[in-house]
Order: sequence, then structure tokens, then C-alpha cells
Amino acid sequence: MQKHILIVPGDGIGAEVTAVGKQVLEAIAAKFNHQFTYDEALIGHVAIEATGSALPNETLTKMRAADAVLFGAVGHPKYDNDPSAKVRPEQGLLQMRKELGLYANLRPIKLFDELLEASSIKPEILRGADILFFRELTGDVYFGEKKRSEDRNMASDLMVYQRYEIERIAVKAYEAARTRRGKLCSVDKANVLESSRLWREVVQEVALRYPDVETEHQFVDAAAMLLIKDPKKFDVVVTGNLFGDILTDEASQIAGSMGMLASASVGDSTGVYEPIHGSAHDITGKGVANPLASVLSVALLLDISFGLKAESEAVIAAVDAVLKAGYRTRDIANANTPADKLLGTYQMGEQVL
Ligand code: ATP
Ligand code: MG
Repeated sequence: MQKHILIVPGDGIGAEVTAVGKQVLEAIAAKFNHQFTYDEALIGHVAIEATGSALPNETLTKMRAADAVLFGAVGHPKYDNDPSAKVRPEQGLLQMRKELGLYANLRPIKLFDELLEASSIKPEILRGADILFFRELTGDVYFGEKKRSEDRNMASDLMVYQRYEIERIAVKAYEAARTRRGKLCSVDKANVLESSRLWREVVQEVALRYPDVETEHQFVDAAAMLLIKDPKKFDVVVTGNLFGDILTDEASQIAGSMGMLASASVGDSTGVYEPIHGSAHDITGKGVANPLASVLSVALLLDISFGLKAESEAVIAAVDAVLKAGYRTRDIANANTPADKLLGTYQMGEQVL
């Protein structure tokens, strides 16, 4: 298979972890006889420094032309205490999502058995948990009209969903459920919110097209509780922007460390694959960042954008084997990790390769 992949490392540890991700792509291409070509582009703080823009036109053009984007992170501490900064790294990220129409954010929450002890939740509750979230990313209360009364004492954010916005993400979630355990849970607050009643109505309509998938509807409050009480009951979860934002952060704790979690953002144009963690400037340049979130982002890229299932599974199996062999980066190590198994970013990448 011939594919062109754009590497967009961005800021902080983004460069270190995407370098490992790229090595994994190269290894997969060699092993499975694919022709992958690569290019690089700037985003975030490094792009501002070089061009004055957080998302240069050249980057956007290259993203549109690529078959997939492997993304690092954006952000720099120098903007944190400077609310007056006119150009900010995060603008690049939001603009990218908007320009590429990335309306579906996929977050697989999978706990590798070897990391059971790294979580704060009881092992018997966690073992076997494997959830795929579909969070709607370009609608909801985040994009509805915002208002403040003249006396500043009243504020409102409008929660808006349109039928087509719900339908397109529901279809993506059902398609994924078909390839997994065939269960889909749609999360809303249809007992009180009109936008949630539309959400449920549309999901019920889409469900008719997927009789092979078992559909369940949960209110968001109940879903939040069940995620901690019995995470194994979930397979695919589809929900709106706000509920998805909150539930996926909650669910990230099921997997132990942020350094283990990958995400995919897909929609109208090129898919973008990235770790859920940020630029982590506290550990940048130290060579200690966990590269496995980027490696697992590559697994998502191969599966979702290229349809290469075996290749994707090979990447996940490699991560599993490395963890089984006892190798750990600092964030997933504990007091019992022997010194010779405690690895830096690059060495961890070597073990995966
Ligand atoms: P940003 O502002 O871009 O979100 P951040 O400084 O908030 O960056 P995050 O990436 O959100 O950093 O992560 C918070 C902390 O978790 C980091 O400061 C870092 O110590 C740790 N961390 C994040 N990602 C990793 C990783 N891949 N490996 C090891 N530790 C990590
Ligand atoms: Mg952060």
C-alpha cells in the first residue's frame, strides 16, 4: 500500500514522542511491505517562532494533501501567564480541527493487564476494561451562542445540535461497534435537555440501520457512575462534546497514565492521530517521556485511516509484549521496577521496534 504521512511534532515532548511513532511506521512498512512516504510541518509555539502563525498555511496545505497526520502536542508555558498574547499555540489546534472538519474524536480506553497496579481503581473492577469513546468535537454548548447580561450578573451558553451532526457521528460509532463487541451506549441527558432528546431520537433512527449492534441509552450522570463502578460493561460509547469531554477525562484514569492514551480525530478530511497528553514542558528534552501514547496513535492511524487491521494489531501486540517483559518509563513504573527495566523515551521505542 502506498501512503503519504505528515508528521507534525509541535511543541515540548511532541517532537520526542512522534520521532518514536515515525520509527514504528517505518518498521511496519518494512515488515508488511508498504510504501510509506513522510513529510514534516510546524504547528503551535514552534510555528509561531518560525512564521508568526500557530497554523501556517503551508502546514494546512500539507495536512489536506496527506493520507494521515501523526501529531505531537502544542503549548508553551510562556503563554500561561500572558493572557494578552495575540497569537497562542492552542489556536493552531482549534483552527486545525475546524479547517479539517474533524468532528469525531475517538479515544480508546484500554488497560494493559500489566498496568493494573498503576491505576487507583481495584484490579478486579478494571481487568478486561476496553472502551472506545466517540466524542462529538465541533458542536454542542462549546460552539452555541454565548451571552452576558448588561449588568454582568447573568450568563448563558446555548447547547445546540443539528440532526446531521448527530447522525454522522452516530454512524461512525455504529460502524466501529460492528468491528468490536457489537455494543453501543449513547450518552445524553434526554430527561431534561431538548438537544439531548434530538440526540436520542437520531441515534434511535441510526440504530435501525445496525440491527446487529445492541444499543443502550444512558443518562450522563448514570454513565459517569457506571464508568467507575463497572467499566467492563461498556464497548463503544457515543456522546456529545461536553459530556464526552468530561467522561473521557474520567475514563483516562482507567488506563493508569496519560502517557498510554492515544486519540484519533476524523471527519471530512485527513485524520489526525495524537496522544491525549500535552506538551509537558517539565520533562521536555530529558528523554524520559513515555512514547507509547504516540505508538498507540500509530496503531489507530493504520486501522482507521488506512484500514490496515493486522498492522495495527501488530503495533498493539508489540506494546503489550514490551510491558509484559517488564519495561517501564518513569510514569508507569513503581517501586518494584528494577533499574535495568526503567527506560527513557528512545530506549522504550527500541523495545517496541
Ligand atoms: P499542555 O499545556 O500542552 O497540556 P502540560 O504541561 O499540561 O501540557 P500534559 O501533557 O497535559 O502537560 O501532562 C501533565 C503532566 O503529565 C506533565 O507535566 C508530565 O509530567 C506528565 N506527562 C504527560 N505526558 C507524559 C508522557 N508521555 N510521559 C510521561 N509523563 C507525561
Ligand atoms: Mg495539560
